[in-house]
Parts: sequence; structure tokens; C-alpha cells
Amino acid sequence: MSEVLLKGKSKVVRQGVCDDSLVIEFLDCVTAFNGDKKAEFVGKGALCAAISGIIFRHLEKHGIKTHLIKDVSETSVSVKKADIIPVEVVVRNKSAGGFAKKYGVDEGSSLKNVVVEFSYKSDTLGDPLMNESQITALGLADQSELRDMADEALKINQLLVNFFASVGIELADFKLEFGRYQDEIILCDEISPDSCRLWDIATGERLDKDRFRRDLGDLLEGYAEVFNRLNSR
Ligand code: UDP
Repeated sequence: MSEVLLKGKSKVVRQGVCDDSLVIEFLDCVTAFNGDKKAEFVGKGALCAAISGIIFRHLEKHGIKTHLIKDVSETSVSVKKADIIPVEVVVRNKSAGGFAKKYGVDEGSSLKNVVVEFSYKSDTLGDPLMNESQITALGLADQSELRDMADEALKINQLLVNFFASVGIELADFKLEFGRYQDEIILCDEISPDSCRLWDIATGERLDKDRFRRDLGDLLEGYAEVFNRLNSR
């Protein structure tokens, strides 16, 4: 296997076969609270790789440019080597998690509009929220890139809200990462129950990483439910 370029909390990134490609391996490891809570669930990596693959292919089919090249194994995917913009984009359709806590709004409350948030991708600083002028002041991204990321995030949100609703799941919120590749901004990283809040529309059951964060039930069962529903769509 080729050289490890980066070992993250739940993924390993290796050099790909061509210069401008990478191979991302999804690990069984799961972390929460900036790495303070950690565990391993055998099969989680394969489930996240499969779910993220289904979602990225759905987005590509609807005109969203992504890093995806092809699956290389059950847990690995070959992707374009983009220059990752160190700004995480969170999209919220319902109040939950950090938003519910910070603003004192009950989890599950409706919002008058979709929220798009930027935060600094930095584990050491705990991914602090950042506004546009702070991001441009530090040169992390420029105005036009931020506009592209926010526009793309809203398009992705609309596609995914409908996609998940078609299998009885509400997309409450999720996180995206983008990268620069050949003069374009493309969607990178993953979209999976590790990075989304997914609520069963009929029962309200949490099918995402909150099962682990808040000890709400077997993590793999929730992820497998998401996979089975999307896969049989
Ligand atoms: N999220 C993520 N990685 C992060 C932070 C957030 O994937 O480093 C996802 C998280 O799973 C949720 C959404 O982004 O679907 C919003 O997360 P929030 O800001 O509420 O963070 P929390 O306080 O719950 O970690």
C-alpha cells in the first residue's frame, strides 16, 4: 500500500496511483467531543464508505462536482487530490447539537430559514465558529470561494433533504468540506451518519453518530438502517 499522507480520527489518506489522486480509507474508529470519547465498531468504516458513496454518486448525478473517482474496496475510495479549504460548512434544517445548546433552542425546533455556518477546521482550537470577515482576514478562503461554498451547500442540502425524505429520514443537519481542484471548488471528505444528524421521520429515532455521543443505542444498527434504506431505494 502506498505512503500514508494523513491519519485523521476516522480516516486514513494515502497517495493514489496517479499524482493527482488520493485513496481515502474509512476506519472503524469513531470519536466525539473533539476526540475525548473514542471507540471502535467493526464494520463502521465499510458502512460509512458505502453510504457516502451512494450520496456522492447521487449528488454527482444532479450536477454537484465532487472529489469522487471510484470505490477501490469496501472501505476505500479513490478521489481527486484537492487542496482542502480549512473551513467546515455546517448546514442546519432543524435545531440540534451545538446550535440547540449555544442558543438555548430545543432540539428538533423548526427554523425560519436554513442555517449555513462556517467554522475553522482545527482540532487544536476545537473547530471554532468563524464569520466571513474572519475567514478572509486569515486568508483561509476568499469572498468568492465562500459564496460558492455557501451556494453549493444549499444546493446539496435541497438534494439531500429530498433524498433522505424518500426513505423516511429527516436530515436535521450535516457538515461539508470543500477543496480547490483545477480552478474549481469541489465537494470533498464524506457525507455519512458520522457527519449528519439523521432522524427517523416515523419514530424520531436517531440513526447517526448521536447514538454514540449520547449513548442512544447500538451505533452499527443505526448506520446499517441508513445504508439499507438508501441502498434499496
Ligand atoms: N459535524 C461533523 N464534524 C465536526 C462538527 C460537526 O461532522 O467536527 C456534524 C455533526 O455530526 C452534525 C453537524 O455537523 O451533523 C452539526 O454539528 P454541531 O455543530 O451541532 O456539533 P456538535 O456540537 O453536535 O458536535
